[in-house]
Amino acid sequence: MAEGKKKGLALHWQILIGIGLGVIAGIVLCKITPYDNWYKYIKWAGDIFLRGLRMIVIPLVFSSIVLGVAGMGNSAALGRIAGKTILYYIVTTALAATIGLTLVNIVKPGVGANLNLAEEVTAVGSGQVSFIDQIVSIVPSNIFESMAKGDLLPIIFFAILFGLFMNKVDEKYSGFLNNFFTSVYEVIMKITMFIIRLAPYGVFAIVTNVVGKQADDPRALLSMAGSLGVFVLVVWGGLLIQGGVILPLLVRLVGRQNPWRHISKMSTALLTAFSTCSSGAALPINIRDSQEKCGVSNKIASFVLPLGSTINMNGTALYECVTAIFIAQAYGIDLSLAQQIMIVFTALLAAIGAAGIPMAGMVMLAIVLSAVGLPLEGIGLVLAVEQLCDMPRTCINTYGDSCGAVIIAHSEGEELTI
Ligand code: ASP
Repeated sequence: MAEGKKKGLALHWQILIGIGLGVIAGIVLCKITPYDNWYKYIKWAGDIFLRGLRMIVIPLVFSSIVLGVAGMGNSAALGRIAGKTILYYIVTTALAATIGLTLVNIVKPGVGANLNLAEEVTAVGSGQVSFIDQIVSIVPSNIFESMAKGDLLPIIFFAILFGLFMNKVDEKYSGFLNNFFTSVYEVIMKITMFIIRLAPYGVFAIVTNVVGKQADDPRALLSMAGSLGVFVLVVWGGLLIQGGVILPLLVRLVGRQNPWRHISKMSTALLTAFSTCSSGAALPINIRDSQEKCGVSNKIASFVLPLGSTINMNGTALYECVTAIFIAQAYGIDLSLAQQIMIVFTALLAAIGAAGIPMAGMVMLAIVLSAVGLPLEGIGLVLAVEQLCDMPRTCINTYGDSCGAVIIAHSEGEELTI
């Protein structure tokens, strides 16, 4: 791609062009030669981009939370912001799940779906974690193990503790630590910007690979096209209501900002989430643009966004609900109201527990299904369209976090630049 020509083009346009060219390249390459012959020459560029983003997530999250929490100075401010953040997350995620539940009950995409086409799923059941286990695992037994494994919740827990207690030690130590973490944070942000500039190329490679993979074996997608098509439309419809109506309304009414300008300022982060299916990958961009373009303070952005990227997943919660009911419908199982409420509740927990990585919601689906006794192999039904669902739900996950940062910043009296 000619670098000179793109100088003036905004990054999100470059990413969109990368997606478009990726779709064309994936189809054309498959016409020329089978997927297996070419994918390795393309895929590596996407892998490097994704690894680059993941590389910076842990140091970025850790240093930004420590600074954010320590910057709040006293625990009353932290308590207040944390309280608002958690309330916002719970309310919006519950709303998303309820929208999904309502739509899937109205449209009933699973009724009459052909189960013979379901693939066998064997490994997903191992992803089950009980609610108590989830709570306990927030406290790390070894912070370095959590960092090595990329478990964000324990890292966030430790970073909050670290930031809190940093304020309680002698000035000469806390001053040093503040300087240290600010320096780390600044360097990591510079690396982030460097990696972000590679996004159009990375996204091109990822999309080419994804399209090529399916174009090579279109049967898997086509065979379930009927009911799965409607299922995907329900997921998209629900996400559209959450992302196009509910969240913008909250930004307008509670955050007192223009929601469309906010979306346009966050477009790089949203498109990154959409194309990479990873809200963790979009997190560095979300943090940068929330601060630089929207004027959210580091204090709020560094607390609300990393926490949100792991526990606030509007899109994932909606998806879990729609999918669980869809599978029940496909198996001809009638769910009682109590069972449906149970699905909403477990969908919330599943969304909290899902990592900000591709297909995490699919793995967490096992928890939701077993909570109401639905067959796990039902997941095989929706595997074929996972990519189509993961992309938009990740986008809404990231958007929900960004709205949270704006709303909470406004409620704290910050001057925003949206
Ligand atoms: N891919 C989603 C994300 O990164 C998680 C999911 O699979 O639902 O936010």
